[in-house]
Amino acid sequence: MENIKSLVLRITERCNLRCAYCYAAGSGCRAADMSEALAIQAVSLSCSEGESLRIQFTGGEPLLCLETMEAVFAYGRRTGRRLRLAVQTNGTLLTPDVCRRLAAMDCALGVSLDGVGAANGSRVFPDGAPAFDAAVQGVRNWGKLGRRCNLTVVVTRANASRLGQLPDLALWLGNVTGAGLDLFRPLGRGAGEDLSPGEEDLTAGLRALARRTEQLHAVGVPFRFRELERLKRRRASGDCGGVYCYAQTALSLAVDPDGNCWPCSSLVGLEGCLLGNLRDGLPGGPRAIHGLPAPERCRRCDDFALCRGGCPAGRMGRSRENDPLICAMHRVLREETGGEP
Ligand code: SF4
Ligand code: SF4
Repeated sequence: MENIKSLVLRITERCNLRCAYCYAAGSGCRAADMSEALAIQAVSLSCSEGESLRIQFTGGEPLLCLETMEAVFAYGRRTGRRLRLAVQTNGTLLTPDVCRRLAAMDCALGVSLDGVGAANGSRVFPDGAPAFDAAVQGVRNWGKLGRRCNLTVVVTRANASRLGQLPDLALWLGNVTGAGLDLFRPLGRGAGEDLSPGEEDLTAGLRALARRTEQLHAVGVPFRFRELERLKRRRASGDCGGVYCYAQTALSLAVDPDGNCWPCSSLVGLEGCLLGNLRDGLPGGPRAIHGLPAPERCRRCDDFALCRGGCPAGRMGRSRENDPLICAMHRVLREETGGEP
């Protein structure tokens, strides 16, 4: 198998939270946890000795399987693979000891947090108790080691109009570099739930977020709003014709605890997206996403060069031909970064 750029290891289906929109819930995996041997096999097939690879650990809650992460790290060291590790966590298990073990692997951290108070209302423990305080404590424990993290925010009707609070939440936490947005998709536990944001709230929230970000930049506080920066980069580089992500160029791979392989983490478990199983050696290697090209409507859109139709996986579970929320998101970001397509 050719070297890839980005490997996602979904090392467990288990989680200590019960978020209202969890995509991982009911994924159909037979194994709860990925074995260390399978995780190492995925790394060895994805990256040759002497090469480098970015690995993101997800779940479920991947910190429930910290030993698997450590086994992958040790394998990289032992075999001369240059592994850059990252973990996407709910933050609630970031005890001082866990933080020290992650820091020993120089692991980057993404913490899922949707905002403050009601804005974070979808993120709860199984008994319904809010997860906010535990996640904040985890981020602070990480900060005590001088480490920074990014926030991953699922945008729902609960937080869309409050997105402008995110830079101030980051400032309050003290060790948050920036935030990336993930529009709610009605999959997993969220299937059939009425959690999609209204277009008006989304537009207002995005504008507030973009403006607060710029205000902070003006006084030297470098909060990074991922989607805004991505658009700025595309404008600045003139790179306006490419694909949206690695998954469309077969440079990313996501593996679930059963060894099933998918083009990216957002497509795990989705019908029609399975590439094969690692136990069979995945003879064809990762392939580009088939059946998920940008919709015809996007390819005819004046904004296509910059927007590229948004995340192909993000359209799963939505109307692929007409998603006003993806368009609204792009329109606001385009206007906030200089207007013309
Ligand atoms: S923390 Fe992540 S895996 Fe756990 S319930 Fe919430 S969304 Fe699902
Ligand atoms: S703005 Fe809307 S229609 Fe245009 S490329 Fe983006 S998602 Fe497609």
